[in-house]
Amino acid sequence: MIKRPRRLRKNNNLRDLVVETKLTADDLIYPLFIKEGKDIKSEIPSLPGCYHLSPDDRLRAEAEKIVQEGIKGVLLFGIPQKRDKTGSSSRSPQGPVQKACRLLKEEFPQLYLITDVCLCGYTSHGHCGIVEEGEIKNDATLPYLTETALSHVESGADMVAPSDMMDGRVQAIREKLDEEDFYDIPIMSYAAKYASAYYGPFRDACESSPDFGDRRSHQMNPGNAREALREALLDVEEGADIIMVKPALAYLDIIYRVKQEVNIPVAAYNVSGEYSLIKNGGQAGLVSARAVLKESLLAMKRAGADLIISYHALDLAQELV
Ligand SMILES: [Zn+2]
Repeated sequence: MIKRPRRLRKNNNLRDLVVETKLTADDLIYPLFIKEGKDIKSEIPSLPGCYHLSPDDRLRAEAEKIVQEGIKGVLLFGIPQKRDKTGSSSRSPQGPVQKACRLLKEEFPQLYLITDVCLCGYTSHGHCGIVEEGEIKNDATLPYLTETALSHVESGADMVAPSDMMDGRVQAIREKLDEEDFYDIPIMSYAAKYASAYYGPFRDACESSPDFGDRRSHQMNPGNAREALREALLDVEEGADIIMVKPALAYLDIIYRVKQEVNIPVAAYNVSGEYSLIKNGGQAGLVSARAVLKESLLAMKRAGADLIISYHALDLAQELV
């Protein structure tokens, strides 16, 4: 007798009833680029549809839209006016992320605020840590990261997301936040962050290309999967509340494996290169951008992502609610 799985695909209602994975607006986090200065809203050329926004009326207007579209959380990146060796504006109360947090927390309390914690957007050399003798120093970087995280939280951040890939930073940040009585603030750790070519457009967006060398001494080798599990488990041990895999599309196996290994939520970062390829593919008439996008995000969720950080979020949310 022929077995007939097609029976369950025959009717639209039935297909909806038996679907295993569904994408909703609740899954999405929208990244925002906050640029120090006034009255700035400039489209990022390599990320069409995404903007540099100053922490004033320009951000306010965008936040209104974000809330209206049903997005629950944003991930904030800062672009300072001045950069120096230690990235001091990353932890200044007057830094762009700190200002944005205060504004958003006060005027849009329903929006969940996550902040990226790293130095690369703030250092003159564009590296994620303190550089001495041409080397990124792991332990010397930790105090700067903890100060940055603390200043975000003091400004109203609901969650911090360290993206630097220094060893021991989750524990250092956890201890600092606890010391200051911020024990309720979760940490989303960029645990398996690969040295990927898919970050190209982001570096334009954050003006954070390193002025020498690259990030392969701290970001992961794309050839390694078991190492991602080791990183994820270490971060769980250090106190991470959510584990992130970045990028997403070329690393679905990593999302899947991390999900099997840890019992906390897993986030996927649908990175700038993934975004730009789909956008440009659609504009060039090669694919239906919308359909390919939904299929890609669905694949991330099917692989195990509980939440997805995506530049498409704002555009897509309304359709998914
Ligand atoms: Zn960095």
